[in-house]
Amino acid sequence: MDLVFASNNKHKYEEILAMLDKKYHLLSLEDIGCKEEIPETHPDLQGNALQKAEYIYQKYHRNCFADDTGLEIAYLNNRPGVYSARYAGEHCSFEDNMNKVLQEMGDTPFRKAQFRTVIALILNDEKFFFEGIVKGTILTEKHGKDGFGYDPIFLPDGYNLSFAEMDVLTKNKISHRGQAVRKLIDFLKNYNYATK
Ligand code: IMP
Repeated sequence: MDLVFASNNKHKYEEILAMLDKKYHLLSLEDIGCKEEIPETHPDLQGNALQKAEYIYQKYHRNCFADDTGLEIAYLNNRPGVYSARYAGEHCSFEDNMNKVLQEMGDTPFRKAQFRTVIALILNDEKFFFEGIVKGTILTEKHGKDGFGYDPIFLPDGYNLSFAEMDVLTKNKISHRGQAVRKLIDFLKNYNYATK
């Protein structure tokens, strides 16, 4: 069965491909000839993930899934949340985003935060959602050089290394995205598509 991953992120595509049961043939947007920018205009992660999956389902008539992720910081009323990618403005860098968060947090002791990923799957007209959450703390300064996004300022609970100081395997084991993807994969393993 063909399944489209509605994202242009090659790294995520490879990660999911490596985990997916062989009865599924994972297609990228490039594979289906989708070159346009898929709109993401909802004020929440679930809405955005579903919007991206529905765009592909309606236009290309393909079973598909899409993901959306946000960093939710309690002290900032769950910002940057759905706006995580462009928190410091259009065309901003990861550094700009982290600097904005660090400046807004100042030296408050209230530093609890979580990364949350939502995956929306549309299979044969049915919609399914999978969520992954990792809880942690926003550090007062950047630590580590690996990873991307807000990794250098996020300390996951139970660890004394930031996400940017961890090797990728350790990060994937505990991360929001890793958890959501594993839930999706487990679901697909058990989904009896022959009877649908
Ligand atoms: P996306 O929805 O996965 O593209 O994520 C949106 C934004 O959230 C990214 O541009 C990053 O700034 C941030 N983000 C998502 N996942 C991670 C992560 O694993 N570590 C750090 N930042 C992340």
